[in-house]
Amino acid sequence: MSDCLFCRIIDRKIPAKIVYEDERAVAIEDIHPQSPTHLLVIPRQHLPSLLEAQAGDEALLGHLFLVAAQLARERGLDSKGYRTVINTGSGAGQTVFHLHVHVLGGRPFHWPPG
Ligand code: AMP
Ligand code: ZN
Repeated sequence: MSDCLFCRIIDRKIPAKIVYEDERAVAIEDIHPQSPTHLLVIPRQHLPSLLEAQAGDEALLGHLFLVAAQLARERGLDSKGYRTVINTGSGAGQTVFHLHVHVLGGRPFHWPPG
């Protein structure tokens, strides 16, 4: 999708700090970090949000979370805890309509979230 920010980042048309990539996913540093570690795990496939995910996307969704867990472990976030978040829809705070998993860590998190 030529007008999608994350597709353009994945295609290297827009610069970003890419910290991981494989055949199905790319992870970048969030440009406006909300915690000392704030990564975004993004599928190469353009899915606007979780709303559009289908049964055939089951393995991909699992993969995104396994990548998130691996990146968190590599950064030593697992001992103190970290948060994985998918915002779905503008009412939930989604601003980029290409599915992504936020990985936040390095500070305490409260519940319920804002
Ligand atoms: P969401 O609001 O859940 O859709 O998350 C979108 C995230 O993308 C936000 O945390 C933004 O800070 C982040 N973001 C927006 N533009 C960029 C960019 N060019 N590079 C990296 N992260 C970005
Ligand atoms: Zn996209």
